[in-house]
Amino acid sequence: MRPSVYLDCNATMPVRPQVAVAVAEALAHPGNPSSVHRFGRLARRRTEDARERVAALVGAHPANVVFTSGGTEANNLAVRGCGRRRVLVSAVEHDSVLGAHAAPEIIPVDADGVVDLEALAALLGDEGDDTLVAVMLANNETGVIQPVAAVAELTRSRGALLHCDAVQAAGKIPVDLAALGADMLSLSAHKLGGAQGAGALVLADEALALAPLLRGGGQEKYRRAGTENVPGIVGFGVAAAIAADELGRTARLSLWRDRLERRAREIAPASTIFGAARARLPNTSCLTLPGVASDVQVMSLDLAGVAVSAGSACSSGKVAPSHVLRAMGATAEQAGSAIRVSLGWGSEEGDVDRFLDAWAALARRTGRAGSAAASAA
Ligand code: PLP
Repeated sequence: MRPSVYLDCNATMPVRPQVAVAVAEALAHPGNPSSVHRFGRLARRRTEDARERVAALVGAHPANVVFTSGGTEANNLAVRGCGRRRVLVSAVEHDSVLGAHAAPEIIPVDADGVVDLEALAALLGDEGDDTLVAVMLANNETGVIQPVAAVAELTRSRGALLHCDAVQAAGKIPVDLAALGADMLSLSAHKLGGAQGAGALVLADEALALAPLLRGGGQEKYRRAGTENVPGIVGFGVAAAIAADELGRTARLSLWRDRLERRAREIAPASTIFGAARARLPNTSCLTLPGVASDVQVMSLDLAGVAVSAGSACSSGKVAPSHVLRAMGATAEQAGSAIRVSLGWGSEEGDVDRFLDAWAALARRTGRAGSAAASAA
């Protein structure tokens, strides 16, 4: 049997081998960063080294990095900890932003999934000093990139705070906190080649008041109680440093992604490719095979040894049509026949061919292939 092909890197990026080594090394040493003896001091040093590397990835000050258990916690900390009464969130945010507030107000997006700045301005009104706006940098399902700097200009002029979920963007495109103008930014280690279970909320200004979600300890400057996940944080630091070094290499992914989409349109001319006209992450494609349900595609591709996901696979077993695609005006049929293909640092050009072969075969079996669908991909 041919080896499996992993094209679900937006769900979890494969761990970098250097990360696995660093995590194992950290596990081999006892030590709580809060302990004053040499073991504790070493654990502290490893944690602070990682903090510097994570900060460097997004151009932030290390003192402003609050380590968390991942992107979900970072998003919850931002939304619930900032103390703003009104919360405006884009319609395409990840569930961990949408679900962090009891009654968020929704900023609509256009057909490509880009936030409607006029609608945001109207929602903000003149006074925003009791408001948090949350707009992600890149969408996990479509890869579409938001005009975060323009959003920041708007929020700043009204005195509102801006949170940016950069979980999918970091490591795939350059992310600079100051250039974005956001007040808070979320990151997750396992989306950029680190291990699952570590993330960070990065603040633009150390003085930003943030109420902790977890209390009962002075870790992370009283912003997040609990002994730090030292191995996970060490791995996060290594992954962040490698991702920063290799940002120049991600352009090749967009060439493969574009070829995938061109060929997919030949195989199934009625296919919709979401957000294709806009700036997107280089590694992500969200496309439909009309008439074939997403989960049928995912299972059939899996049988052919190719792993992709149906819409957002961040919380497994989700069968509801994607709120992201629906917010973009996709019909239930379109949203129900969409899959996400996401490449990563370990992907090879041949992986795209494996996907296309399997997808074309499925299109033929289900009678959905266009006349131009040649047998070879
Ligand atoms: N934000 C985005 C955009 C995501 O894609 C995910 C993925 O799960 C998260 C937040 C949550 O991150 P984590 O899995 O680290 O909790």
